[in-house]
Amino acid sequence: MIHHEDDVPPPPLLPTTARPPLSMIRGEGSWLWDDQGNRYLDFLQGWAVNALGHCPPEIVDALQRQAHLLLTPSPAFHNEPQLALADELTRLSGLDQVVFCNSGAEANELALKLVRKFGRLHKHGAHEVICCWGAFHGRTLATMAATGKPHFHELFPPNMPGFVHVPFGDVDAVREAITERTVAVMVEPIQGEAGVVVPPVGYLRHLRGLTEAAGLLLVLDEVQTGMGRTGTVFCHQQDGIRPDVMTLGKGLGSGVPISATLTTVDASCLELGDHGSTYGGNPLCCAVALAVTRAVSTPELLRGVRERGEHLCASLRSVARETGASPRGRGLLWALELPTNDAAGVAARCRSSGLLVNAAQPNVLRFAPSLRVTFAEIDAMVEILARALRASS
Ligand SMILES: *Cc1c(COP(=O)(O)O)cnc(C)c1O
Repeated sequence: MIHHEDDVPPPPLLPTTARPPLSMIRGEGSWLWDDQGNRYLDFLQGWAVNALGHCPPEIVDALQRQAHLLLTPSPAFHNEPQLALADELTRLSGLDQVVFCNSGAEANELALKLVRKFGRLHKHGAHEVICCWGAFHGRTLATMAATGKPHFHELFPPNMPGFVHVPFGDVDAVREAITERTVAVMVEPIQGEAGVVVPPVGYLRHLRGLTEAAGLLLVLDEVQTGMGRTGTVFCHQQDGIRPDVMTLGKGLGSGVPISATLTTVDASCLELGDHGSTYGGNPLCCAVALAVTRAVSTPELLRGVRERGEHLCASLRSVARETGASPRGRGLLWALELPTNDAAGVAARCRSSGLLVNAAQPNVLRFAPSLRVTFAEIDAMVEILARALRASS
């Protein structure tokens, strides 16, 4: 129970995240309940994590079944859920090999180790990675250096070297940044944390052509856009390309911590001893991710994401017309850019009316509902949102 009185000391947690004075105790589908008995319509879903909503039956089943069988035999042995999940992810992506990790940042860290080794072995020690301004790749030291937020680069000097940043969506800027030190280009297909920034049509296809011609690896961070979120299992499939390396997280575990780095055999260069992780690929999390992967790769679910996404887009457009805001996104990953820097205020008003959305930027609200969100839930969301926006203008 979290107390609201000002004279009660704060909980003994490092204050690294701003949190309202409430505690969440239960979730089901698109709904969350707090410790005061309030119910919220959740269009955050753990920041685009819970692909199937809160506590979906297939995850509860997978956890219960696997919990009775085996939690972890140590990473020194194969386990069945890990092998089955590796088969499923390589089949769906057309990539050849996978390493399982525990968070998006760790999967990206591994992708960066892989491209550096590739540069050492095949490109005379080239090690630089071209990344984009606005990108978010995680909170480890290397992934913070890869992230394109200038204030990240001031926090914990000295920064990990080897990253060059160019504007997102600009292929010419990438071409101009290539030198003999460059080994890879790393981008998100759609920038999530930046506020669902969608690049121009053809961006990934042009990047693929450019990196192939220049002998560089193309690394796609699909931690947020993967696992059905944008209407295909992986977002880049809509561009008809195959990356050399792809990372997954968030929706892969849909609420349990698991992430993955996938690679082609041609880019693959890690050997015995190059990497290890105590919990990476443990059967409990892999059993969950296998159930999630099977669910989000069915044609019915993906069609649902596209149809509900169109409805969400149309609903946001109608709200936007009234308030001067403008929506952008794909599938069930959307943002609304406000004419003012009041996103946090609007999100707080939504929360007191029982709706959870997130202020991805001072002027941008983000919507990442369950991939099973219903039309009625979208309508209920938009009604609360419209009221909160009117109070803002
Ligand atoms: C959330 C996110 C990450 C970091 O994932 P963590 O699990 O928080 O480490 C990396 N890349 C992208 C695109 C993300 O959205």
